[in-house]
Amino acid sequence: MDDDHDDDDDHDDHDDHDDHDDHEPGAPGARVPSVMVSFDIDGTMEFGDPAGPVTIDLVRTAKGLGYVVGCASDRPLSSQRRLWSEAAVDMDFIGGKHDLHVQRDLWTCQRMVHIGDTDVDRHYALLAGFEFVHVDELPPVGTSGWIF
Ligand SMILES: [Mg+2]
Repeated sequence: MDDDHDDDDDHDDHDDHDDHDDHEPGAPGARVPSVMVSFDIDGTMEFGDPAGPVTIDLVRTAKGLGYVVGCASDRPLSSQRRLWSEAAVDMDFIGGKHDLHVQRDLWTCQRMVHIGDTDVDRHYALLAGFEFVHVDELPPVGTSGWIF
């Protein structure tokens, strides 16, 4: 009994629907990264100690998607810099896990994700307003709602 399905109450005229066309695609201001992703190293990255399941290629994919990509690890900064240099990935930030909130405030991202392998990762990620994803629970690439 679908007798009245043409909602004529909401029928507006469509004569002046685009009086603001100043939103040009490709404009510099439109290129704001929407996603920040942070990687732990040990137990997370393939070059960590111990090695984890996250590949350098995945990090490069994040860079290719235009994400803000960084590292939050308990290793000294010099060690982090050396490892990422050897991996030939230009990270947007490198810091301690407890400094994730600093990165949160430095960038403007709609979504922030930290990937790690311990409760310490989870603690500081959630404290800084990041989503935490455990390396053992990484969604497959292409999963709906996932950043890859
Ligand atoms: Mg770790």
